Amino acid sequence: MFGKILIANRGEIALRIQRACRELGIRTVVVHSVADTEAKYVKLADESVCIGPAPAAQSYLNMPSIISAAEVTDAEAIHPGYGFLSENADFAEKVEGSGFVFIGPRPENIRLMGDKVNAKQAMLKAGVPCVAGSDGALPEDPKEIVRIARRIGYPVIIKASGGGGGRGMRVVHTEAALLNAASLTRAEAQAAFGNPGVYLEKYLENPRHIEIQVLADEHKNAVFLGERDCSMQRRHQKVIEEAPAPDLAEKLRDRIGERCAEACRKIGYRGAGTFEFLYQDGEFHFIEMNTRIQVEHPVTEMITGIDLVQEQIRVAAGEKLRLRQKDVQLRGHAIECRINAEDPYRFTPSPGRIEAYHPPGGPGIRVDSHIYAGYTVPSHYDSLIGKVIAFGSSRDQAIRRMRIALSEMVIEGIKTNVPLHLDLLHDSRFLRGGTSIHYLEEKLARERKSGH
Ligand code: ADP
Repeated sequence: MFGKILIANRGEIALRIQRACRELGIRTVVVHSVADTEAKYVKLADESVCIGPAPAAQSYLNMPSIISAAEVTDAEAIHPGYGFLSENADFAEKVEGSGFVFIGPRPENIRLMGDKVNAKQAMLKAGVPCVAGSDGALPEDPKEIVRIARRIGYPVIIKASGGGGGRGMRVVHTEAALLNAASLTRAEAQAAFGNPGVYLEKYLENPRHIEIQVLADEHKNAVFLGERDCSMQRRHQKVIEEAPAPDLAEKLRDRIGERCAEACRKIGYRGAGTFEFLYQDGEFHFIEMNTRIQVEHPVTEMITGIDLVQEQIRVAAGEKLRLRQKDVQLRGHAIECRINAEDPYRFTPSPGRIEAYHPPGGPGIRVDSHIYAGYTVPSHYDSLIGKVIAFGSSRDQAIRRMRIALSEMVIEGIKTNVPLHLDLLHDSRFLRGGTSIHYLEEKLARERKSGH
């Protein structure tokens, strides 16, 4: 096992990784920007290194600074968290090339999954069902593009091969709009991702977002840890996540989960990963794979009793998975609300000083957050300031516990989206479960119209 790990991230996930390390008896180094000097996890870490000014490009995305911080502190491995450099194959390569262990998959697997056209082809080959679409990137020939779209059937969605973060996508409902949309998306993809490749998919009009968590070691062992339903989204950003997915038959889960685990064995995947699917009419359609720990990992931890971050570290240290598929037992239900520093209905960021803070507690409540009274939420990074996770023996109990938790929670001085969560926790469609990925946006649009 490692003696010392460097955490190349910030916020709640930096604290989460630090806690996992401490439990394993591993010393921690955190790197931070000038804006995060006062952060709680910086004070709690065994060592800290300031790697640059507030803008992420000069600090959390600055590969040479992070690697020299590992050198001067004698860390053995680097945990990238999520976001920032976590899915950057070049970074993973540089980390390993400098003699450190990257806590994540091999660089070639990160690269494969970072190109969505290649990822889809690899998944099809591995037996994972995908959304119907073009075989690979779209050709230049307009006649060919029209022919492919006709074969798929409208509506279609044009997606950038190098896209991410919900950007680089365009829905097309009629043939008349197709070619113009294709060239616009191509141009945008070139500008935003430096890769003009685009592909076509059938646009699913009423899907849920259901994803499978996997864990694999470098000895070709892989297991899946059930699924998460992350359909409550705004602008392709997840707002509430839960596990298991409401009303998903066990047989369907096991079938798709086993396919994902098998795909990991086939491509030689190592570490934690997530296969994201759109689920509609009883069928799963792969859209992409995330090759890192995800924000919503705690709901899986709550229902499996498995610490995913610790398992990531063990696997990175070369250990064999300690779990067989039969050891993964799902118990109860967990829900996560992402707490953002933002206006709950206008969604404008609300950074600033937290004047008062009372975190919730009680049976089944977990709070993953780095904030405290007197902490200033910097304006330079995304607005996630923490996560409240509620566990119950049933979905109904998890929801009741979450309502109590959020009604007790006090964060003063900045605005947060807690009121939106409380609203959703009383929404009749959410309570029934199984809403589509468009539900929240439609609800918000209705309420804006009625002057809510
Ligand atoms: P990104 O990497 O940018 O997150 P994804 O491929 O994961 O891109 O897609 C993001 C979101 O876009 C999905 O969660 C879904 O809401 C929507 N989306 C993507 N592909 C389709 C599709 N074929 N049909 C309907 N919606 C889609």
